[in-house]
Formats: sequence, structure tokens, C-alpha cells
Amino acid sequence: MTDVTRRLFMRAAGVSAMAVSHTTASASRAGSKVDAVARVIASGNGAAATQKAWEVMQEGADPLDAVVAGVAIVEDDPRDTSVGYGGLPNERGIVELDAAVMHGPTHRAGGVASLQNIRHPAQVALKVLQRTDHVLLVGAGALEFARAHGFQEENLLTDHARRIWLRWKETLSDRDDWLPDPADTEPPVAEFFRQHSELVAATGALRFRRPTGTIHCSAINANANLSCTTTTSGMAFKIPGRVGDSPIIGAGLYVDNEVGSCGSTGRGEANLQNMSSFAGVELMRNGASPEDAGMEVLRRIAKTTEPRLRNAQGQPDFNISFYLLAKDGRYAGVTMFGDVDFAITDERGTRLEKCRPLFK
Ligand code: ASP
Repeated sequence: MTDVTRRLFMRAAGVSAMAVSHTTASASRAGSKVDAVARVIASGNGAAATQKAWEVMQEGADPLDAVVAGVAIVEDDPRDTSVGYGGLPNERGIVELDAAVMHGPTHRAGGVASLQNIRHPAQVALKVLQRTDHVLLVGAGALEFARAHGFQEENLLTDHARRIWLRWKETLSDRDDWLPDPADTEPPVAEFFRQHSELVAATGALRFRRPTGTIHCSAINANANLSCTTTTSGMAFKIPGRVGDSPIIGAGLYVDNEVGSCGSTGRGEANLQNMSSFAGVELMRNGASPEDAGMEVLRRIAKTTEPRLRNAQGQPDFNISFYLLAKDGRYAGVTMFGDVDFAITDERGTRLEKCRPLFK
């Protein structure tokens, strides 16, 4: 029975997804939530995406189509400077996007990296999955492919993102020829820099931390079929051509339909070095709960982080988060540090929950 026919059957029989979902209290481990199977989870910027994905999944959409439709809302949103239109550009002021999709039932995947001028890279990644024999297209080839499929080109650099980039460039060094506007102390640009700066105790100076952000979204339907996507403008002000974890299957996302899915936001290099999302799914395969699997991935990253990226306590000085969804519906969000939310939509509605931090 396909997902659609099963849903129609359930509707005809008056059976809700909740009633037939696999509740797995006996399989639960400490820290993992057990509930109905069907649900959508995402990074904390993805509440609108999980809601949308849930709605279209309820209408019978495949979980992969659902998550791609969900993240399109965030790709469209100019206020989110980490994804799609309005994303922060590379060091030359050009927006380069990375995205990938993975479909549990067929184990097929598609991705695009360093894609310019197309605001919905997750949709292009889906086309790579559906309409090519390949998994990953990059740069000019990815753009040519998007054009061939009718995606419209546009300038993705909003005025807000351009001003943030220019300010970064102008304050990078006092030995070059770019001078910041001394009058530009008003929000929103100055406020953006304040939010992303931290006090260096030794010098009393403010240090700008490059903003990170991305959206990952994973879904499981009432048939326990899983899919996921990750889409991003990547590390702000990166070297042109830099590819992060988001379009790399196994790094920024991974799904095994027999086990579960895992996706990430945060420092992509750490996920490329640790194949973190693949590791998260493999740990679940070997019996770990979503939360335990995510915490173990964080510990591996913390252990392998090179000295230059450690703080005074020897911990990684960057943040990174994981969103895990098991085949039986258990789920978790975990993060290296601090107060980080993740978004979730299921029978109980849409809400934000807290990621469990490895370090306080
Ligand atoms: N993971 C993304 C990347 O490294 C960025 C982020 O999530 O902040 O490209």
C-alpha cells in the first residue's frame, strides 16, 4: 500500500495517524521522547517549515516533497540571513548556497553546492535526485542544471546582507583601504554585529564571531517513511567555492529508512571531518536512542577538534547542533553549547523544544 492509499484507507476507516502510529514506550531510553510516529523536526529557525511540511504530508505528500516545501519558506525569508534569499554572502559579496535532500524509501539523494542566483537550492537538489544519475552538482554546472529545469535567476544579496558584509569587510583590518562609515552605528547592521560579538576577557575588546545558521528538516510519516533536507548559505564570508557539510550526504544530513535520520547546523567543517550525520544514524542502528546518538556525535567532535579551535576550557569554541528522528518516532535535538531550540510539528501541534547541550 502506498502512503497515499494508506492515508485514504485510514481516512475512510476513520482511523487517525495517531491511532495506528507505533508508540514505543517499551523501546524508550532515558531522554528520548516517545509519541506518534508521524512528525517533522527542524532547526530552531524552522517552525514555519515543520508546520508547512506537516500540512502537506497530511494531504498525502511524500515526506521528501513535504520537507522541501517546508524549507522553501525559510529560503524565501529575507530576515533569515543563513539560508536562501537574504543569506550572507562569501568574502567577495556573492551569495553561494548549498543544499541536499535524501529520500528514505529509495535511499536516493541529491545535492547542489556553491550554487549562485537560485533562491531554492533544496528544490534544485530534489531535481538532481529525480532527474539525474548523479548525487551532487556544484558551481557553474549546478546553475546550468537549474536553468535547464526552469529555475529563475535573481540576485540573492539583499541590501541588509550587503551592508553586513560591507561592514565586516571594512572592519576586517586597519591596514587595507576599506574604511567603515563612522555614522553607521544604528540598527539593524550595528545591532547585528553586537549580537554576534563577544567580550574577550584578556583585552576587554569585542570580538566578532561569524554568524552561523542553516535549516535542517526531517520528516517521518504514518507509514514510518523518512526523508530530510538541509539548505544553507553556508559560513558567512567564506572563501569563494567553500563547500560546507549541508550538501554532503553523511555530513550535514543522512537518512536510513530502516533506522532514522540525522541532520545538522553549525560548523560544517566539523561534520565533514566526522561524517557526523551518518555516524548519528549508525549509532541509532546499534541501539542508541536519538539523544544518546546525538550526544555521542558531539563527544566525538569535541574530542577531535584541533587546538586552535578550542576555548580556554579545552572545549570546541564553535557551536554545532543535531536533529535526530528514529524510525519509531523518537526524536531529539542536541547541541555543543547553550540554549538552542529545535522546531517540531506533530499531532500535538507546532512548538519549539530545547536541544540538550553537551557543555553548559
Ligand atoms: N553548517 C553550515 C555550513 O557549515 C553552516 C551553519 O549551519 O551555520 O555551511
